[in-house]
Amino acid sequence: MTESSGVRLLGPAEIRGLAAELDVRPTKTLGQNFVHDANTVRRIVATSGVGPDDVVLEVGPGLGSLTLALLETAGRVVAVEIDPKLAARLPQTIAEYAPARAADFDVVLADALTVMPDDLPVTPTALVANLPYNVSVPVLLHLMSQFPTLRTALVMVQAEVADRLATGPGSRTYGVPSVKARYFGDVSRAGAVGKNVFWPEPKIESGLVRIERRDRFGTDAIHRAATFSAIDAAFAQRRKTMRAALASWAGSAAQAEDALRAAGIDPGIRGERLDVDDFVRLGQVPR
Ligand code: SAM
Repeated sequence: MTESSGVRLLGPAEIRGLAAELDVRPTKTLGQNFVHDANTVRRIVATSGVGPDDVVLEVGPGLGSLTLALLETAGRVVAVEIDPKLAARLPQTIAEYAPARAADFDVVLADALTVMPDDLPVTPTALVANLPYNVSVPVLLHLMSQFPTLRTALVMVQAEVADRLATGPGSRTYGVPSVKARYFGDVSRAGAVGKNVFWPEPKIESGLVRIERRDRFGTDAIHRAATFSAIDAAFAQRRKTMRAALASWAGSAAQAEDALRAAGIDPGIRGERLDVDDFVRLGQVPR
């Protein structure tokens, strides 16, 4: 759609103007850092790979920076925003800056930690979001769990969280987010974003992470819960061997050892060496 869509993007002056008009005082609690750089939002959209066939779910549209860039390219955008003031202003911003695309945009006032498919007017195929940093991992995992129609996700998170999500077994940063994200599909780093493209400027660098959904283990909620409980238990005490870390999860160290052997896992290993397939097998062992 690009130029012919007639979409204008928000720069520093527009962000300042909208914030002043709405009397927005960005809060840390809601992770409100707004992007005021057209190149950054265009890069995020290009990296996401979304096109005219996609219905994009955007979490936390804020003042609409990324939303407008998405409307240059995506077939449709549905945005979930928790801040009533920001959600209420968005349709007007889209009408002003992307008049030809206004009919392809919906905003839903909701918490992305609990939003469900029935809350949305359309079925999303892709998640693209500059996530609120303090809830980025729970939001990402909730959406990948509850919206199986999301085939891809491209999210901006704290650089350190991006590393944790994208890293594989054996690394010091490998942990609960890394394994759970892999349950859904292939996870990779997709670039870095500096601090100076935001207002207000955050203290930390940001990073992009991509998930390509594979659903190798299906989409059954009970299977997922069993796997995730084994992951949580293993990393709650990550310095311990699996035999010790899983003792209360299994009932005792001896029962943990039996469960690990039944899953084909060495009880003397630490969780950080196991991949998602190991945790899936462990989750399926009767306890
Ligand atoms: N997308 C905008 C941008 O790139 O400029 C704003 C991104 S800002 C980092 C995060 C946004 O998420 C804010 O608009 C904030 O109000 C919203 N938000 C915070 N917590 C949320 C939640 N639980 N559910 C939905 N939106 C949330």
